[in-house]
This record gives sequence, C-alpha cells and structure tokens, in this order.
Amino acid sequence: HAKKQIGNSYCFNTPNQNNELERYYKIENELRNALRNNQFHIVYQPIINLTHNTISAAEALLRWESPILGHVPPSEFIPLLEEFDLITEIGNWVLQKVCCQMKSWLIQGIKLKRICVNVSPIQFKDTSFVKNLEKILDEARLDPAYLEIEITEGTILDMKESEKILRDLKSHKIGISIDDFGTGYSSLSYLKQLPIDTLKIDKSFIKELDLDGKVIVNTIISMGEHLNHRVIAEGIETKEQLDYLKQQNCHEGQGFYWSKPINADRFQKYIEDFKTMKLKI
Ligand code: C2E
Ligand code: MG
Ligand code: MG
Ligand code: MG
Repeated sequence: HAKKQIGNSYCFNTPNQNNELERYYKIENELRNALRNNQFHIVYQPIINLTHNTISAAEALLRWESPILGHVPPSEFIPLLEEFDLITEIGNWVLQKVCCQMKSWLIQGIKLKRICVNVSPIQFKDTSFVKNLEKILDEARLDPAYLEIEITEGTILDMKESEKILRDLKSHKIGISIDDFGTGYSSLSYLKQLPIDTLKIDKSFIKELDLDGKVIVNTIISMGEHLNHRVIAEGIETKEQLDYLKQQNCHEGQGFYWSKPINADRFQKYIEDFKTMKLKI
C-alpha cells in the first residue's frame, strides 16, 4: 500500500507514486472527518416478495459524498474505513440512523417486514457489537425482529466465536442474512448448524444466467428450501431474470429492475407508487 512506502522509499517515489500517496492521505483525512462533516447518507433499495409482488423489506446502503473527492463508491471507502479503524463507529451510526428510519416508517403505517443492514466483519467481531446493537434498538424503540443484519460467509468462517454471536443475535430476535452467498468458502455442514434466516444469492450468478449460473442458483434455492432459509436474488435487472427466478420459486428479489438504492423520501414515495400501480410485474 502507498502508505507503507513512506518509511524507506519516499525519496525514490516517482511523481506518479507521490500522487497516489497524496490521494491516499487526502482520502484518509477526508474520511476521518466525513461523519462530523455530514458527508455520509443512507440510501434504501426495495426487496420484493416474488410470490405476492409486495415490498417486504429494504436494504440500507451507505453513501459518501466528499466535496473534495466527489462521490466515492462503498467498494472503495468501506475497506478504507476498516483499515483506518473507523468502521465500527460509522457502522454504529448507520445502524442508529436506519433503526430510527424504520421506526418512523412503521409509525407512519408503512408495512415493511424487515430492514437489512450490512455489517463489516470487524464490526461483527467487536466484543461490544451485540450490546451496542441492543442499545441502538432500545433507543430507537424498534422491535429487534424488524432488523436483519447482512454478513458475508467470510465473517462467520474465520472465527470460532461467530456461532456464539449469531446465537446471541438470534436470542434477541435479530435476523441474520448471508450476503453474496456462493462467493465465499463456507462449508455446507457448518452453515447448516448456524441460526441463519436468509441467503442472498450473489449478483454475479444472476448476471450470468447461463447453464452454470442456473445450476448454482437452483442449488442455492433448494438448499434454502431444505434448511428453511429465505432466499433473495440480488442484482435482478431484466424481466427474463425475474421470470426465471419466479419459476424456480425464489422467495424474494432485489435489483435495478425495480429500483436503484434511493434516499428515504424517495423510497417512501416508491412504496406508495408500488402499492397503487403494482409496478412492473
Ligand atoms: P451488497 O451488500 O452486496 O449490496 C448490494 C450492492 O449491489 C449495492 O452496491 C447495490 O447498489 C448493488 N445493486 C443492487 N441492485 C443491483 C443491480 O440490479 N445491478 C447491479 N449491477 N448492482 C446492483 P453498493 O451500494 O455500491 O454497495 C457495495 C457493497 O458495499 C455492498 O454490497 C456492501 O458489501 C458494502 N456496503 C454498502 N453499505 C454498507 C454499510 O453500511 N456497511 C458495510 N459494512 N458495508 C456496506
Ligand atoms: Mg448487502
Ligand atoms: Mg456485501
Ligand atoms: Mg451482496
């Protein structure tokens, strides 16, 4: 990484490397102040029940708008938040915002069943994760059963304590979803013993619905059926993809076919429009 070069090779850096180093420090500095400077916001993407054609849930996704760097995608800044040890603080901020938003929607009679929030492995492994979560839910006065956390296969596999944390979350009625499912290395026998509610089929498999893609998708759907997990297909963009997944009895879907992630106001409007128009099915 650019930062690690500074000790011994700074004088040998080419102008290009210096630019890279400069950008790295600029990003670090910006990121450290981003929360306090109100540069983060949260967007929501609907999750649709494919059997009933209703919006059952929403996934909350973090956005960073920097006046200096412009829009930086999560794929770039989430790893940096992890590297700079900021992910737990920001992650808690996200959970707090999202739980309050969900509470407000419920009060307004918007009938979402779940709100889904991504949790980084570092945040998940933090010893006070469940305690913090309890506090956040309590302060938001949100019934924990409405919250579902999304973790990847990697998060639960590289630690023994993960099973304990998952059971702890489950005892609080918090939902657990395995994100990007199929791209990790989880052993099926291990997954079987964990209290998992949802499998989210990674969007790479939906994008390539050729023969191989279909085999993988079908396998995950039937696995979900047997283990009693809800299955969500991520990254649905076309009617063909939707028709295939419905035909295979996939429970829920999410993707640009319905909507990109949008801010809370637009999301609320989307729900209202969806109800009256039964958008696109
Ligand atoms: P993810 O959790 O798998 O989220 C789904 C990603 O797929 C989102 O990208 C979403 O915008 C995108 N997506 C949804 N539908 C479609 C589609 O039809 N086509 C395509 N091409 N993409 C679609 P996004 O928002 O850029 O987030 C990327 C990743 O960053 C997320 O993947 C998640 O791992 C991470 N992330 C985002 N917000 C947070 C957060 O608050 N905390 C943590 N720890 N990670 C987050
Ligand atoms: Mg996710
Ligand atoms: Mg993810
Ligand atoms: Mg995913």
